[in-house]
Amino acid sequence: MRVTFCGTRGSTPAPGLDYTRFGGHTSCVALSHDDEGAERRPTLLLDAGTGLRRLPTLLGDLPFRGTVLLTHLHWDHVQGLPFFRSGDRDDARVTVLLPDQGDDADAEVVLERMMSPPFFPIAPSGLRGEWQFGFVPGDAFATEGFSVVAVDVPHKGGHTVGFRISDGRSSMAYVPDHCPTALGPGPGGIGEYHEGALRLADGVDLLIHDAHLRAEEVEAEGSFGHAAAEYAARLGVTAGARQVALFHHRPERSDAEVERTVCRFAEGPVRVFGAAETLTVAL
Ligand SMILES: [Zn+2]
Ligand SMILES: [Zn+2]
Repeated sequence: MRVTFCGTRGSTPAPGLDYTRFGGHTSCVALSHDDEGAERRPTLLLDAGTGLRRLPTLLGDLPFRGTVLLTHLHWDHVQGLPFFRSGDRDDARVTVLLPDQGDDADAEVVLERMMSPPFFPIAPSGLRGEWQFGFVPGDAFATEGFSVVAVDVPHKGGHTVGFRISDGRSSMAYVPDHCPTALGPGPGGIGEYHEGALRLADGVDLLIHDAHLRAEEVEAEGSFGHAAAEYAARLGVTAGARQVALFHHRPERSDAEVERTVCRFAEGPVRVFGAAETLTVAL
């Protein structure tokens, strides 16, 4: 499979000259099959932050036809939906699957809470094309030719999951928002390496993980719901991942600061890099 980072930022977009290398758009990752002869068009999107606006650069004039999996419903993971040009057109076909939020509302009604007047001019039903909305169907399912495992992860404010995705040959895990200290301090005080996190990351070719914080920030800011870069790297080592992409860069973290964070892991046993908007990784 091919994994393209369309938005790597957490919390809110970060425009400006200090953010050109790792990018300013919020969370969105595009997956495409890499079979010989396959057209390499993304058919599976992970989260719908403002990085969704990058899809026309991957699809050109073609419509998006595929599935969007949402880890949770915070603004930085959904605000790209109304600006999804490749999906908001008559010939698009989009399925959006989100974690149920523990109430009786159906999936489209849940999304309408953030996308409808007076907060936004239209509701999801106003998007052009064929759109379907549903909940993540259990902890293991198949979509768009990928097998998906969804595991609950601790975060803050709303039901959040992480995804593990395989095309039968390679695998990746996507855990953009994760508060491992919610389950205990763990080794070094940066959070527990709990069963769910280990299950998602076990032996994957690529672990994309929350690195909003640095270890020294966890004590003061860990309660905001995020993980440290050091946790992401150590989870990758513990779970036997081949490489770790630090993701969900906090909005004020400049390119130079992200680079300095990545340098902390230069001598480690697993490759660690900073997720950068437009980067494609072939697995
Ligand atoms: Zn987030
Ligand atoms: Zn979040």
